[in-house]
Amino acid sequence: MKFSQLFCPTLKDNPNDAEVLSHRLMIRAGLIQKVSSGIYSLLPLGLKIIRKFETIVREEMNRVGAQEVLMPMVIPSQLWKDSGRWEKYGPELCRLNDRHDNEYCLGPTHEEVVTDMIKQGLKSYRQLPQTLYQIQTKFRDEIRPRFGLMRGREFGMKDAYSFHDSLDSLKTTYESMRLAYEAIFQRCELRFKMVQADNGSIGGDSSAEFMVLSDTGEDTIVQCDSCGYAANIELALSGELSNSRDSVNELDIEKVHTPDIKTIEENISFLQVTADQCVKTLVYETSDSLVAVVLRGNDVLSEPKLKKALGSDICELASPDKVNEFIGAPIGFVGPVNLPEKCLVIADHHVDTDDLLVCGANEKDFHFKNAKLGRDFNISQFYDIREVQNEDACHCGRGKYVQMKGIEVGHIFQLGNTYSNAMGAKYLDEQGKSQFYEMGCYGIGIGRTVAAAIEQFSDEKGIVWPVSLAPFEVNIIIANHKDAQLVDAAQVLYEQCLSAGIDAILDDRSVKIGFKFKDSELIGFPYQVVVGKHFNETREVEIAHRQTGEKQLVSSDSAIDHLKKLICR
Ligand code: ATP
Ligand code: MG
Repeated sequence: MKFSQLFCPTLKDNPNDAEVLSHRLMIRAGLIQKVSSGIYSLLPLGLKIIRKFETIVREEMNRVGAQEVLMPMVIPSQLWKDSGRWEKYGPELCRLNDRHDNEYCLGPTHEEVVTDMIKQGLKSYRQLPQTLYQIQTKFRDEIRPRFGLMRGREFGMKDAYSFHDSLDSLKTTYESMRLAYEAIFQRCELRFKMVQADNGSIGGDSSAEFMVLSDTGEDTIVQCDSCGYAANIELALSGELSNSRDSVNELDIEKVHTPDIKTIEENISFLQVTADQCVKTLVYETSDSLVAVVLRGNDVLSEPKLKKALGSDICELASPDKVNEFIGAPIGFVGPVNLPEKCLVIADHHVDTDDLLVCGANEKDFHFKNAKLGRDFNISQFYDIREVQNEDACHCGRGKYVQMKGIEVGHIFQLGNTYSNAMGAKYLDEQGKSQFYEMGCYGIGIGRTVAAAIEQFSDEKGIVWPVSLAPFEVNIIIANHKDAQLVDAAQVLYEQCLSAGIDAILDDRSVKIGFKFKDSELIGFPYQVVVGKHFNETREVEIAHRQTGEKQLVSSDSAIDHLKKLICR
């Protein structure tokens, strides 16, 4: 490729609407262009990088025996009604009608289509296990699309699905997928962690996320510094309460006037207590009841943990009106003492102490002091429903949690038979009996991984691609386009690169050399070869390594050998 013919509109300045580094650099380096909110075009270099990543993904998927298919993006509603997700999925699902008023959705994920594919085409246990994958465009009407390709509405995903006649077989494939994922992210030289994760709306029993470590990450993860257990903070198992104080006295419960004192912070200063001496009571609504959820004042509720504890997918904070009507007190004054009997009261394990606590009195402008569990209030059931915090004790009892930020680039699930059951997808077992398939599903965000790579691989000048993802491995720069000797030598070098299988671009533009350097560094080609004044003097060219900044002069005759050695793919 000649730079003079390349469509790559690089920008000197940061675009206004790009909040994170990778988004800014992808726009500035001319890799992507915004079409609409969360919808982007991939420009030539952007597409080339995406294709390189897809090739890595394909190779590793094929290596573990997954077979590539391509499912439609437009999916008839019936399949989603069969699985029960047409009603459940919410506004992220983009629904549309055709001219005959048939309903469809744009696929945000493809469990339904692939389960139906297997249901139609696979009848016997002899054909199991099977793993199918595709690399395809998804659409999710994200509430806040942002960060360029990182959280788009239209985005590329590799999604794989496996079908089994036993849980053991599912576990074997899940494990080989885990290894394939590790290989994929290692080949991209990413710093990442696999963490235990929530199953979300897909359902199922066991899942893990692959997180690229970066402060830009929207996910918080924790890892124990002793046992190594790592999990998404939404799910990380909470350890014992480390600061439980001795119950020194038996003060009676006392109702105190707390006009307009609603939040824990306001209570702390008004009543001169610490946050962990208070409890907060949140009222949640499930499909069939109201639940009062009690936590320590310094704790944050994990909604995924709560949903799991209650075994309910539908679990939302009750509206202020509902709380008022049901409890008889506004939000801010609700507490576990004397709640209406029909209200289920559950609490986090850390509330299970002898401490004397401050809580809402279920009456406007009043709180209780010295409320004691077992004496003044009861809890039906304790669960682990708090979000763990940095430096909390790990559930292993030995270490402490260390918190970090991650970008979720991949997610693997053991689904069990949730979908096959809902969609009546069965095979005949050895005894000729109909059985539902066990299923697994495995996703990788294509554009998100590339964006995450930029978050890890960049400096003040621009992107610093690893060879595995680089749009071109080598950029050959002609220092002076008016010097015919240099133009010829660079052209020879360029052709030699191509013959040697080195993916090179020739910067033959009639612009100043400083401009060429700036673009080269911004786009982040791993190696740059300058054919310039040294060539005129000693027939040498300068090879520069983008990552380390190291430069070496080599004779133009040996440049290809040098480059071959440097680019060890
Ligand atoms: P998130 O929690 O970030 O919304 P998710 O859990 O909904 O993601 P999955 O359903 O597990 O995502 O999708 C598989 C992969 O697809 C994710 O691991 C992520 O890499 C990618 N992905 C999901 N949503 C987006 C998006 N809006 N833009 C780009 N990539 C995405
Ligand atoms: Mg996920």
